[in-house]
Amino acid sequence: MSDVLRSLRTQLRRNCQHPFYLRKLKEAGLKIDSIKTLRDFSAIPFMTRAELCGELAKGSFLAEDVVRVNLSPSPFGLIPILNTKKDIEAMNRANARAFERAGVSKKDVVMITFGYHVFIAGLMFQGGFEETGAKTIPLGPGSTRKAIEIARKLKPTVLVSNPSFALKLAKEGLEGIKILVAAGEPFSAIRGYKEKVRDAFGDISLIDYYGMAECTPIACECIHETGLHVSTEFCYVEVVDPETGEPVGEGERGEIVVTHLNKDAMPLQRYRTGDLGVIDSVECPCGMSLTMPTGVFGRTDEMYKVKGVKIYPSQIPFVLKSFSGLTGRFRMEICKNEKGTDVLRIIVEGNGNAELIKEMLRESLLVTPEVEVVEKLSKEGVEDRRFS
Ligand SMILES: [Zn+2]
Repeated sequence: MSDVLRSLRTQLRRNCQHPFYLRKLKEAGLKIDSIKTLRDFSAIPFMTRAELCGELAKGSFLAEDVVRVNLSPSPFGLIPILNTKKDIEAMNRANARAFERAGVSKKDVVMITFGYHVFIAGLMFQGGFEETGAKTIPLGPGSTRKAIEIARKLKPTVLVSNPSFALKLAKEGLEGIKILVAAGEPFSAIRGYKEKVRDAFGDISLIDYYGMAECTPIACECIHETGLHVSTEFCYVEVVDPETGEPVGEGERGEIVVTHLNKDAMPLQRYRTGDLGVIDSVECPCGMSLTMPTGVFGRTDEMYKVKGVKIYPSQIPFVLKSFSGLTGRFRMEICKNEKGTDVLRIIVEGNGNAELIKEMLRESLLVTPEVEVVEKLSKEGVEDRRFS
């Protein structure tokens, strides 16, 4: 039996002490001992955010040994994020291994600009970096002036921030940074963004990080920047067809589904994230293989089939952000031509070369759209006129 399967079965045993998870297995007529392959595992019904929120509202998971309660915004309102002491230690270890692969060592001074109040990010990064032995500055969010002033005194070598704030700090004269760990906003999924940040900082490592309050880390880049390696010691990640729920092949787009491997409070078990991504195997000098090439590049909540291909409108803003002349506003129209073939039309606002935009949209959406660039867009949104 593979290590991952063994870990999954141990976690399932722990989960099934709770009626919510036991019910999931029973529904599918499964017993833990009969799960002998990853294919068997993928027969377990999914868990959704709505179900998780429902259970949390009932007070489930708030076990005696929970020591930290954060909150996270969701379409269902703020949801509690629960961790036991053991959960926090496992999270810190997984983050520390990811940051070490990114080149962080105890010689580094790390400046963390995420919030420490209510939400999980600040304390989560703090714990991971402390575990590496690095010296950490819990700066929190705030003004660029304050950040620059403190950086002049304490000379950080690692900056932890969202990429847009990092760019702002570089423009304001932040120096001496060797590694940027970027989270909280799309980064490597936007073409040209890394180059822009590297131009501003000089020769530094740019590390894209993917996690969510319910499970973090999920994936993080290493110093070789070959894509975001899945934190395989912490979670098991599947990519499924959002329509059928069936696992898709390597390199195919789909919804990211996450299962914790070592979690006591509020464990995720085949949890649908709604995030759109891809998993590939890469050969990386760091030794990691399972990789999300550019992290998450859209949401799966809204999907249209055009010429038989699934189109996710949430992918479009990622492409448009690569063009500085565009405002980011767009309208997507789907109709049929006189031959009855689907036509995808994307109208974007601002200034830009329509052919170039079309080419990048084609690469991302896998369907060639007609592209029109207009100075002022009257109406945003998606309009499917094929069936009206
Ligand atoms: Zn690597």
